[in-house]
Amino acid sequence: MNKPALLSLDAALENILQFSTSNPTVEIVSTFDADQRILAEDIYSEIQVPGFDNSAMDGYAFCYEDFVNRKGILQAGQRIAAGHFPEKLQEGHADRIFTGAPVPDGADTVVMQEDCEVLPDGQIHIRSEPRRGQCIRYKGEDISLNASILSKGNLLNPSSIGLAASIGRASLRVYKRPKVALFSTGDELVMPGEIAPADMPAGSIYNSNRFFLLAFLRRLGCDVSDLGILPDSLSQTETAFRSACENHDLILTSGGVSVGEEDHVKPAIQSLGELQLWSLAIKPGKPFAYGQLKAHQKLTHFIGLPGNPVSGFVTFLLLARPFILNLQGVNQTKLNPYPLRADFSWPKADKRREFLRVKRNTAGGLDLFDNQGSGVLTSTVWADGLVDNPAGNTITPGDTVGFIPFFELMS
Ligand code: AMP
Ligand code: MG
Repeated sequence: MNKPALLSLDAALENILQFSTSNPTVEIVSTFDADQRILAEDIYSEIQVPGFDNSAMDGYAFCYEDFVNRKGILQAGQRIAAGHFPEKLQEGHADRIFTGAPVPDGADTVVMQEDCEVLPDGQIHIRSEPRRGQCIRYKGEDISLNASILSKGNLLNPSSIGLAASIGRASLRVYKRPKVALFSTGDELVMPGEIAPADMPAGSIYNSNRFFLLAFLRRLGCDVSDLGILPDSLSQTETAFRSACENHDLILTSGGVSVGEEDHVKPAIQSLGELQLWSLAIKPGKPFAYGQLKAHQKLTHFIGLPGNPVSGFVTFLLLARPFILNLQGVNQTKLNPYPLRADFSWPKADKRREFLRVKRNTAGGLDLFDNQGSGVLTSTVWADGLVDNPAGNTITPGDTVGFIPFFELMS
C-alpha cells in the first residue's frame, strides 16, 4: 500500500474551516447566562459610563480655588452618599462625599478622608496638597456615547458580560451551541468506575480520551451527548453514526481512524457520506479525519481524532477547536506563538512540525518534558503549553522558540 502524502496543519485547517462557515443560528440569552457563549451582534453603548462625574474616594469634595484662598480650611457642607443627587456646592465649603457619589456642581477636586481632619469648631482641614481635578471619575471616561464595546464573534467571558451589563444590556444575541455527539472507539477501552484497577482485564486500558474531550467540548460551549464507547465493529459503528446524525451538528470520535483492519470509522463514514482522511505532517498527530454524513435529510459534520491520548489532545486543540469555534461564528482561530527562550536542547530534527510539551520556568525560559511520546498523558499535565517547532528544526539552549500557552487553547 502506498503511504499517503502528509498534509500540513495549515492546509488541513484551511480545508476543514471552509466547511464550518455556515450561518450559525442565533438565540437570545440572559446576560447572566452568556459566559463562554459567542456574541452574534456588535454592541454599541447608548449611554456614557460613568453617567456623571463621581468621587473615586471616601473623602471631601470642594473647589480648588477655595482651598487655595482659604489655606486648606473649609466650612463643612452637605453629606453626599452614593445613589443620591447633591445640591450645588456652596462657596468655601467642603462636602462630605463617598465613593461613587455624584460630585456636586461647583466642586472640582476630591481629597480622601485620611488626608482630612474635622476641626473642633466643625471646619474641615484639608491636610494634603491636592492636584486640581484629582480623585474624580469623569462622565464618559470609560465609555463614550455610541462607543463600540463588544463585537460579533467575541467569546464572552466574565469581564465582557460585566461590561455589557454596565451599559444596561440584560440579554444578548449569541450563536446557538453546536450539538456534538462524542464517541470513543476500541475494544480495549474500559471505564473508570465500571472496572476497578485491580480487576482490569488483560490488554484493557482506561478510556481517558472521553474525559478530556468531553471537558474540552463543554469549555467550548457545546451541547454534548456523550455516547460512550463503540466496539471495533463496522456494523455497530455505522448504526451508531447514522442515529447520531439525527440530532447533532457534529460527530467527534477518538481512535479507529488509522487504516488498520480494526479501524472501522473510515468505512462507516464512507458508507454514510464522504470522508477526507489525512496523515498530518505534525507530531504528535496521526491520521486525522474530516467528513460529512448524509442521513435524516441533513448534513452532519464528522471529525475523527487519533486514539493516542496526546495525539488526540493536540489535534483537538489545533484542529477540532478552531472548527467548533468557527461553527459558532468565531473566526480568530490563528495560532500566535509567543517568542520565548528555550532552556533545553532538541538535537534531533523531525520531518514533521512538532508540538513539544513544555513548561515556563522561573528564569523566564522554557523547560521540556522528558518523554514526548504520543501516549504520555502526564506530559500534558506537567506542561503549561506547546512549543510550535517547525519541521527540520533543532533547538539549542538559548534559542528563541514559539510558545503556545494551554490557557489560550483551553478557554
Ligand atoms: P487507534 O487510533 O484506535 O489505533 O488507537 C491508538 C492508540 O490509542 C491505541 O494504543 C489505543 O489503545 C489508544 N486509545 C484509543 N482510544 C483511546 C481512549 N479513548 N483512551 C485512551 N487511549 C485510547
Ligand atoms: Mg482503536
